[in-house]
Amino acid sequence: MFEVITLGSGSAGNSMLVRGTSSAFLVDAGLSAKQLSVRLQACGVRVEDLSGVLLTHEHQDHCGGLKVLMNRCRFPVYCNPLTARAMSDAGFPHANWQLFQNGCAFALSEFTILPFQVPHDASDPVGFRISTRGACLGVLTDLGYATRNVFDVLKGIHALLIETNYDEEMLQRDIRRPWSVKQRIQSKHGHLSNTAAARVVEELHAPDLRHVILGHLSKDCNSPDLAETCVRSTLEARGRGTSVYCAGQDVPSPAFALI
Ligand SMILES: [Zn+2]
Ligand SMILES: [Zn+2]
Repeated sequence: MFEVITLGSGSAGNSMLVRGTSSAFLVDAGLSAKQLSVRLQACGVRVEDLSGVLLTHEHQDHCGGLKVLMNRCRFPVYCNPLTARAMSDAGFPHANWQLFQNGCAFALSEFTILPFQVPHDASDPVGFRISTRGACLGVLTDLGYATRNVFDVLKGIHALLIETNYDEEMLQRDIRRPWSVKQRIQSKHGHLSNTAAARVVEELHAPDLRHVILGHLSKDCNSPDLAETCVRSTLEARGRGTSVYCAGQDVPSPAFALI
């Protein structure tokens, strides 16, 4: 068994459950602790059953529920040293840190995890390549653009969670965000637009890529329809066997099986 379920994804919080035959863990814990445990329970997983939580970076929408969740269970928290330091500096209590180095694979139960650096405005943000028994999942969220290294590391994956943060026109038209914020979002250390994500998916596409899960949509500057249409149209010519699903903020996704 190797399956992935997004518990919730969007600007208000992100968390994904990865399940194997004998273990389960989260990638990020940005929903409230209550929602995390309710949604885990709906998937048949107790907080106490988790083998750990992997963190991409220290932004609140990725770790906001972690502190309260850890009151229930002191599972290991996997992140790199700069992310752990940023969280400690921000008042995060002493955790059962399991520190990893970017570019160095490590084992988490039956899984092999390879963290890799991505450009984003956090201390030391990462994506993950997560594999077991020949199947492989890529996690690519919160990045201004995909570097050459990202493409190299994620070559040959079977499923991909990728952010489609904003629609370019909707962001331009948005009257609530000041110019400086728009500049930050669109910068090389910001987020991927729908079209930028579609280009990444196109380049990573291979016959073995079965599932593409779109996530981290901006509530005001995107819609599931726009994001899905943009990625689907790019894949149309080449990816008939690839499913495209847009993860929601408020409900868990179906389970996507890799093996
Ligand atoms: Zn984020
Ligand atoms: Zn972020």
